[in-house]
Amino acid sequence: MRVVRRLPGGGCRFYRAGRCLWAEFVNPGLDPAFRCRVNVGLEDCFDALVDRCERMGIELEAAGRIWQSWCATTFDGAWPCAEYASDPDGVSDQCAHFWDGLCGLRFPRCAGRCRRYELDRTEFHFEEQGEN
Ligand code: SF4
Ligand code: SF4
Repeated sequence: MRVVRRLPGGGCRFYRAGRCLWAEFVNPGLDPAFRCRVNVGLEDCFDALVDRCERMGIELEAAGRIWQSWCATTFDGAWPCAEYASDPDGVSDQCAHFWDGLCGLRFPRCAGRCRRYELDRTEFHFEEQGEN
C-alpha cells in the first residue's frame, strides 16, 4: 500500500519552528494558554511595582532602577522557566521558544501542508528549523 506523505509546512505563514500558529493568527490574543508564562509573570510584577511606587511616592526614575535591578537578578543568564531554551546563535538571552509574547511550545506541531496552508508572502518568513 502506498504511503502518502505531506509536503513540509515550512514557508506557510502560520509556521514557526515546526509549530502551527494558525489558531493565534485567526484569533490574536484570545487564548491565554499560548502566552509565555515568564512574560505574563513579568507583566504582573511590573504592574505591581508601578502600583507600589505610586502608593509610596517613588519617582519614575528610581522605579526604573528598581525594575532594572529586579530584572537583572531574575534573568541571570536564563529565563526562569523549566522549558527555557537558549538562543542557538548565542546572540541574546531571550528564550528560543519566545515569539512576540507567545510560547512556541504551546502550539501543535505542523504535520505538513494542510488545507490551511498559505504561502508566506512577507519578505521575512520563518525558515524550516526542524522539530523543537
Ligand atoms: S519555554 Fe520559553 S517562551 Fe515558553 S514559557 Fe518558557 S520561557 Fe516562555
Ligand atoms: S501547513 Fe497547516 S499545519 Fe502547517 S503551519 Fe501551515 S496551517 Fe499549520
